[in-house]
Amino acid sequence: MPHLLFDRIDEPGLNTIPVYERRGGYSALRKALQMPPEAIVEELSQSGIRGRGGAGFKMGQKASFLPKGEMAKYLTCNADESEPGTFKDRELMQKSPHTLIEGIIITTYATGIHHAFIYIRGEYQLQADILDAAVAEAEAAGYLGENILGSGHSLKLVVHRGAGAYICGEETGLLDSLEGKRGNPRLKPPFPAIEGLYAGPTLVNNVETLGTVPTIINMGGADYAKIGTEGSTGTKLISVSGDVQRPGNYEIELGISSREIIYGLCGGPKPGRTVKMWFPGGSSSPVLLEQDLDLSYDFDTLAKAGSMLGSGAIIVVDDSHSAFEVMQKVVKFYAHESCGKCVPCREGTNWTNKFLARIEAGESTPMDLDILASVQSQIIGNCLCVLGDAMAMPVGSIVAKFRDELEAEIEAARERANALPLTDTEDLLALSAH
Ligand code: SF4
Repeated sequence: MPHLLFDRIDEPGLNTIPVYERRGGYSALRKALQMPPEAIVEELSQSGIRGRGGAGFKMGQKASFLPKGEMAKYLTCNADESEPGTFKDRELMQKSPHTLIEGIIITTYATGIHHAFIYIRGEYQLQADILDAAVAEAEAAGYLGENILGSGHSLKLVVHRGAGAYICGEETGLLDSLEGKRGNPRLKPPFPAIEGLYAGPTLVNNVETLGTVPTIINMGGADYAKIGTEGSTGTKLISVSGDVQRPGNYEIELGISSREIIYGLCGGPKPGRTVKMWFPGGSSSPVLLEQDLDLSYDFDTLAKAGSMLGSGAIIVVDDSHSAFEVMQKVVKFYAHESCGKCVPCREGTNWTNKFLARIEAGESTPMDLDILASVQSQIIGNCLCVLGDAMAMPVGSIVAKFRDELEAEIEAARERANALPLTDTEDLLALSAH
C-alpha cells in the first residue's frame, strides 16, 4: 500500500527543516518555482485529487475558479478538523508541518496569492505551537516571506487559532471567524473563490489536500492519478475510531475494501462482537451495515451506497450498543453546535434532541418514528449550510435501518415509565385533571 503523506511519519525531528529536507522536503517547491503557475494548476487538475476535508470537490477545478491577475486574493487552510471521529490532520501537522507549509507555498504560487492563513482549531494547542515554530523556521530559511528562493513570489503565512466551534470548520463560517466575527456560515453564492475573506477571492482547502500538493508536483499529476480509482485518485488519510482493536490514523489507497480497513488494518471489533453499523465519513455520514463492509472505500462507491466518504473518519459501532444510544449521541452534538442562523437547522436539531428525550422518558409510541423520519427529510437540503444535514442524514439512516430495534426500545421505555410509582406533585395533578 503506498504511503505518501505518512511515509516515515514517525521519524524523529521530521517537524524541522533539516530532517524534512533530508527526506526530499522542499524539492517540490524548487521544482514548482521553475514551472509556469498555470502548469501547476494543470498538474493538480490532472491528478484528479478531490478535497480531503469532506465535500470531495476537485482541487484543480477549485483553484482554477480564482480570478487571474494581481489583486488581494487569499488562501485559507482549513485546519479546524471538527467533524467527530476525524483526527488525521492533527497528526500530519504535528509530525510533518512543513509538508503542509510547502503545499501552501506551491498553491499560492500557482494562484498568485500572497497572503495565506492556517485556521487551526483552538483545542490543537500543541499543533498550533509546532506550526508557529515551523513557519518561523521556513521564513528564516527563505521559503516564506519576500521573493521566495529568488522566484519573485512572496507569501505571508499566518497561523490563526480558532476558539473551538464545529461550525468554524464550515468554509464560510471559518472566514467570518477569521475576520473576527462570530463564526456564522454565509449564504452562497457568492462562493469564496469569488468573494471570500475580506471580500477578496479566496481559496479554502483542507490540510491533507494542501499537504498532498508537494507529492503531486514531485510525481506529476498523471502518475498520481494512477493511484486509487478513476474517480477517487490517490491515497487518503483515514481516522478509525470506535469499536475496533487498533484505532488510529492510517494512509490507504482509495478503492481498497472497507473490510480490509476495519478488519485488516484495525483488527475489527473485540472477539465475540460484530460490526453493527459504521459511519464511513465522520458522524455526519449516513450509517452503513455489516453487509456493506465489502464496498470499495472511495467517494463514488460510498455515495452510490447512500452514504459518503466525507473526511475519511470511520467510526465503528459494535453490537454492544443500541441504535438509539448512537442516534442520541449524534443528535446531542449537532443540536449543541448549530449556530442558530437558519430555522430548519436551529429548530430541527433541537426538536430532534427533545424528541429523543421524550422517547427515552417513555412518552412516545412507535408511530412517532414516522414523524422523526419525516422531520429529518425536511431538514435535508433546506439549511443554509451542511450542519442540519449532518444531523438529519445519519439519524434518518438509523431510523430506516434499525426500525424494529427502535420500536422495541420505545415500547421498553413506555413500560419502564408506566411501572414508575407516581410520586411527585405534577403527576398527582395530572391524574386529578382526568
Ligand atoms: Fe447555522 Fe445550522 Fe443554519 Fe448552518 S445549518 S447556518 S449551522 S443554523
